[in-house]
Amino acid sequence: MRPLSEMTIIQIEVTNACWLKCSNCTRHVGHHKNPFFMDLDFIEKAIDSLEGFEGNIGIMGGEPTLHPKFDEICAIVRKKIPRRKREFWTSGFQWAKKKDVILETWDKDRIAYNEHSTPGGKHTPLLVSIDEVVEDKKLMWQMIDNCWIQSQWSASITPKGGFFCEVAASLDYLLEGPGGYKIEKGWWKKNPNQFKDQVERYCKNCSGALPLPAESDGYGGRPNKENVNNYDTISKGMLEKLKSVKSQKVTAGHYKIYDKKYTIKDLEKYSENWEPSKFKPFVTHEPKDYDEKGPQRRVDHNKSGKI
Ligand code: SF4
Repeated sequence: MRPLSEMTIIQIEVTNACWLKCSNCTRHVGHHKNPFFMDLDFIEKAIDSLEGFEGNIGIMGGEPTLHPKFDEICAIVRKKIPRRKREFWTSGFQWAKKKDVILETWDKDRIAYNEHSTPGGKHTPLLVSIDEVVEDKKLMWQMIDNCWIQSQWSASITPKGGFFCEVAASLDYLLEGPGGYKIEKGWWKKNPNQFKDQVERYCKNCSGALPLPAESDGYGGRPNKENVNNYDTISKGMLEKLKSVKSQKVTAGHYKIYDKKYTIKDLEKYSENWEPSKFKPFVTHEPKDYDEKGPQRRVDHNKSGKI
């Protein structure tokens, strides 16, 4: 696990609402009864808390443009974060409508535009509890310690506090956990020993560290002619936890059960060609990148701002 100060970016998650419903979403979109929308005051506080952090600061969701005060958020970002330290993640919702304010706030090469409709746009399952399926606990902790998400992605701030990992932050919201670290200056100066409590709480309920095949409906959960459903792969114990928090996706039956034990043989089999961070063949910063770079299954860029 990396100390948070060594990360290249820390995310501020302004909402976990999204217009898509990808299989195995890293923010567990589709499960929530009520998404959150971060208060503007809290966004300012979150940015202030990162004073001295050498990496970049990301504005992320869900889909950030769904925040009803998105324009005000952009103004705060422009006021408080130096231009080259700003990053932005979007799936393109309302791109045509919000393009001007987005480009006024972020440089194009700091925008990660991912409409999640490419055939290659897949997510590996995240709701298979590694604690349920890996019986060798020494192996389990070794795998968690080497989790590619913690080593390549970022720490995160949600309205519930600071977290050592983006997926842990989302799990806390999903499973109605106790929340993260208090957002105050320097909260991110934690080393792995100091965020052990979160690792213990969230990683055991996660499969980020478990090599499993990536899955996708190919449409990001959009309606499609083939009637392909977006589903999550979930272990049995996690299914019960999700039922207890009234997960919408579970209620709708959009899941399949993982009920095997995961052995060292599975680890060897799936690790060989497992490259979960290479889920897209190219980096996109705006819609035209998709048009130029090859065949896509895009449904709509939302020129009207509607799905
Ligand atoms: S196992 Fe899950 S919660 Fe833990 S670091 Fe990896 S992605 Fe984050």
